[in-house]
Amino acid sequence: MKVLVYSSKEFEIPYLEKANNKKHQFTFITEALSSETAIKAIGYDAISIFSSDEACFMTVEKLKDFGVKYIALRSVGFNNVNLRAAARLNIKVAHVPKYSPFAIAEHAVGLLLALNRKLITSNYRVTHYNFNLNNLVGFDLKNKTVGIIGTGRIGSVMTKIMHGFGCKLLGYDIEENKTLSEQYNLKYVTLQELCAQADIISLHVPLNNDTFQLINEDVISEMKHGVILINTSRGDVINTEHVIEGLLKRRIGALGIDVYVNERAIFFKDHSQEIPNDDFLIKLNAFPNVLITGHQAFLTDEALAKIAEGTIYNLECWSRGEDTENELTNSDNLL
Ligand code: NAD
Repeated sequence: MKVLVYSSKEFEIPYLEKANNKKHQFTFITEALSSETAIKAIGYDAISIFSSDEACFMTVEKLKDFGVKYIALRSVGFNNVNLRAAARLNIKVAHVPKYSPFAIAEHAVGLLLALNRKLITSNYRVTHYNFNLNNLVGFDLKNKTVGIIGTGRIGSVMTKIMHGFGCKLLGYDIEENKTLSEQYNLKYVTLQELCAQADIISLHVPLNNDTFQLINEDVISEMKHGVILINTSRGDVINTEHVIEGLLKRRIGALGIDVYVNERAIFFKDHSQEIPNDDFLIKLNAFPNVLITGHQAFLTDEALAKIAEGTIYNLECWSRGEDTENELTNSDNLL
């Protein structure tokens, strides 16, 4: 198959080439997929895209006109693809659902630890020969209550890690995972109960119609004062304006995010020589109790290898004329 890889990054190409083992003819481009760049796919059977690409209705229609039959996502999340349009136009779409929930959950824990123990401020001080410890006080994680919103693959790993820290665990999900309750003492509660009791809240739901801005001013007003909020799921799962309000009112004691509402236009590129022009990001960066990473939770050796293998596996199935179990259907995203 001839495959055009959109938004390809230097760090992932060796993994994709190794997994491909010259089976498919890959062309790597750094541009993101959009209705303007869809034209680059002329002559390709398949394209591969990442969360920074956008396969909206118009783009999918153009891809169809240009002869593309398959879209292989290099991600778990698929909120950036209009699956209804793809299904109608007979373009198959598959994601990589199980690459490494550990990578994401461990990154969420990294954000939590860095915020709670003020590691960034501490390191800044030390590099400036300031060894003053004032305002660096954190709290023990042991016996604290962690609310996990979305207890699927990543939320389950998060549950296990936080259980290891000796935390009490609350879960909120539309589907309960009995094993987590039995083995890790995770108690399923309503969103309101979770907010009222949790010292730490970590988000692990997919972005869809029901989770869009799930964390808004009403939900934030139910949270404990000083809660640490971690989001490694998708930027739109939180209402960023309301979260900034929550930080200003000190309802939210600290915020760790790996995903950001406007990330598609900003993340994965070097803007260091430009004048910042994204108001939310300017505000968020000004808080000492906000820690932002640029959608890098998946960035481990193991996850990159599995993403590459999963992508090639999906392409292989299609090239043999078979379906892959990783195929997404119209009912998978409502957004
Ligand atoms: P998953 O499908 O295994 O788990 C998601 C869970 O959310 C499921 O248990 C589901 O029942 C629950 N859920 C769905 N809708 C809900 C709702 N309205 N209310 C409450 N719960 C709901 O997915 P996963 O592998 O754990 O991944 C979760 C998300 O993490 C992905 O969709 C993706 O957006 C994000 N992600 C981010 C990165 C990153 O690098 N930051 C990497 C991978 C995945």
